[in-house]
Amino acid sequence: MIIRSIQAAIGNTPLLKFTHQEFKEIPEASAVYAKLEYLNPGGSIKDRLGSYLLAEGFAQKKITQNTTIIEPTAGNTGIGLALAALAAGLSTIFVVPEKFSLEKQALMQALGAKIIHTPTEEGIQGAILEAKRLHQELDDSYLPLQFENPANPAAYYHSLAPELVADLGAEITSFVAGIGSGGTFSGVARYLLEQNPAIRLIGVEPEGSILNGGPSHSHEVEGIGVEFVPPFFAELPITAFATISDTAAFAMTRQLAKQHGLLVGSSSGAALVAALAEAAKLPAGSQVVTLFPDAGDRYLSKAIYSREDY
Ligand code: PMP
Repeated sequence: MIIRSIQAAIGNTPLLKFTHQEFKEIPEASAVYAKLEYLNPGGSIKDRLGSYLLAEGFAQKKITQNTTIIEPTAGNTGIGLALAALAAGLSTIFVVPEKFSLEKQALMQALGAKIIHTPTEEGIQGAILEAKRLHQELDDSYLPLQFENPANPAAYYHSLAPELVADLGAEITSFVAGIGSGGTFSGVARYLLEQNPAIRLIGVEPEGSILNGGPSHSHEVEGIGVEFVPPFFAELPITAFATISDTAAFAMTRQLAKQHGLLVGSSSGAALVAALAEAAKLPAGSQVVTLFPDAGDRYLSKAIYSREDY
């Protein structure tokens, strides 16, 4: 395949099928499919979003050739936006809470971005406020704001979800995926619901996220978990939220690396823990779909890969 821009390599990721052979929790004749989004060129599902947000910004004339892109991000959206911005010749500034992995920050910088830190204690809300302030201050800047922008779910409605249906048909029993901004979950869920109104929708969060009503506190799993209910969830008939501990997510993520050669991040491990529990409670013959959002090499310095006891 010959391509003229790395942007053309985004999407069309493979679906890995797990059965009873790999995980005994999966009933015989059922399957859990994981979409390997970490194989996108920037190493995550957010390459799709970066590309879509900039295309939307240009289409709505919010971006010109001299615009600086500003965004609060835990890292992957920054990497995706940096890739898309490079293709368009634009510069980028990302506002990142300090706690997020140094590798993700180094990747953003390697792609030409400037990083501004906000204190860990202020969470993603602190990064959002700082990004809004910078956007006010800097003439000709564009703040896509993934946490509020309907283009976020739209990016997944138009790209990832149709790929799932092309590969599996409309007979997907359950869609199980992590929630950070909620963009991936709600965009894909809306598309799948149109194909099959009976589909079960399971949102995955780490302990410390508030969707199941638990108290808000910090967690080690990166990329998922919310401090506020994402605005994209209005009118979405979510079946249940699965709340997964850091230790369960980390153990599964390490198992994926050591037993299956899948070097993914901990939100993938959390998603698979929830997807296996879902498959276990469904009748034989069910098809559960989940997503592996990002690559594990961006967490090698963090507890997940440096501490077996965690
Ligand atoms: N996993 C990882 C590793 C991520 O970086 C993100 C995005 N923050 C997600 C899952 C969740 O995606 P979304 O923001 O679309 O809910």
